[in-house]
Amino acid sequence: MDLRCSNCALVWPFDPGRYRCECGGVLRITAEPAFDPARVTRDVYTLWRYKDLLPSLAGASPVTLGEGWTPVVAAAWNGRAVFFKAEYLNPTGSFKDRGAAMLVTVLKAAGVQAVVEDSSGNAGAALAAYAARAGLDATIYVPAHASPVKRAQIATYGARIVPVPGPRVEASRAVHQAVEEGAVYASHVYSPFYPQGVKTIAFELWEQFGGRVPESVVVPLGHGSLLLGLYLGFRDLFSAGVIARTPRVFGVQAAACAPVARAWERGAADVEPIEGGATIAEGVCIAGPPQGGAVLAAVRETGGAVLTLPDEETLAAQRKLALQGIYVEPTSALVAAALDHLCDRLGDGPVGVLTGSGFKSSPELLQ
Ligand SMILES: [Zn+2]
Repeated sequence: MDLRCSNCALVWPFDPGRYRCECGGVLRITAEPAFDPARVTRDVYTLWRYKDLLPSLAGASPVTLGEGWTPVVAAAWNGRAVFFKAEYLNPTGSFKDRGAAMLVTVLKAAGVQAVVEDSSGNAGAALAAYAARAGLDATIYVPAHASPVKRAQIATYGARIVPVPGPRVEASRAVHQAVEEGAVYASHVYSPFYPQGVKTIAFELWEQFGGRVPESVVVPLGHGSLLLGLYLGFRDLFSAGVIARTPRVFGVQAAACAPVARAWERGAADVEPIEGGATIAEGVCIAGPPQGGAVLAAVRETGGAVLTLPDEETLAAQRKLALQGIYVEPTSALVAAALDHLCDRLGDGPVGVLTGSGFKSSPELLQ
């Protein structure tokens, strides 16, 4: 399998030890299978029902904990009929399981025995769980201020935690140092396989809505792994001719840390790193997303937008969701809060992707 640099177009053969191009560009898979409804394995109720529609390595068998095929929950939000894709019901409590399952499957098949990753929580928990399932050693670099609940989850799966003082970006620097010294980087930000797992959300929405897609989809936006994965999936459906247009994709950032929204408002083609502040939406607190340019392009192409919300609105939305029986972490509640601001731009029956479980919230936030 070959990978092409998104920056300089150089082609590299897949090598687990290489996570980006020498020019620093992100690598993408050169040949993805085309979407074909006839190749959906309809009696498998995990994301692996799309196994024949995903890139794979010869001899790879799925590393799975039953991820994917999450429910779509119909709800009312301020009088509007909306749908929530319940990604918090994945095995480790977040959508990151889709990317981790795909990535660990590929790394296991390639003979990798140990991996490293940097994460504020959910990606680290997902990688730790799938590494445990596959029998790989995992080391996760986390900001020292990361949620204690998420750190406990990572440690309980048996991964080694390296707490890194300072802002989130310091954890990234620390993992890059380990990679320089030869560690295999199982990155939810750089790996081209991660969005391949995430894109199955788009395929599921298409099936769950009876062979069509919603007019718009709203997602939390940090690094953009969810937004880019969804975009890939909708693009596959469009290329195959099974949908006439892709949904508008809206990304929601926390006002205290919103580099993509800032670039969006300026009409920029790329994202300048900022000095990020603190937010209760810790899952999207990313000051310098390496794939920011790709996120902006995807949002623009679909006719969507990037917006920001203050923590007060996010917290209020989290409580309001809970009063409907839906228990999610603050990062996910960004989506519901954004519905109030997007009203006339959403069309009929928008889908909000609820990314992470309320069980991951620090309890003091809910007092
Ligand atoms: Zn390059």
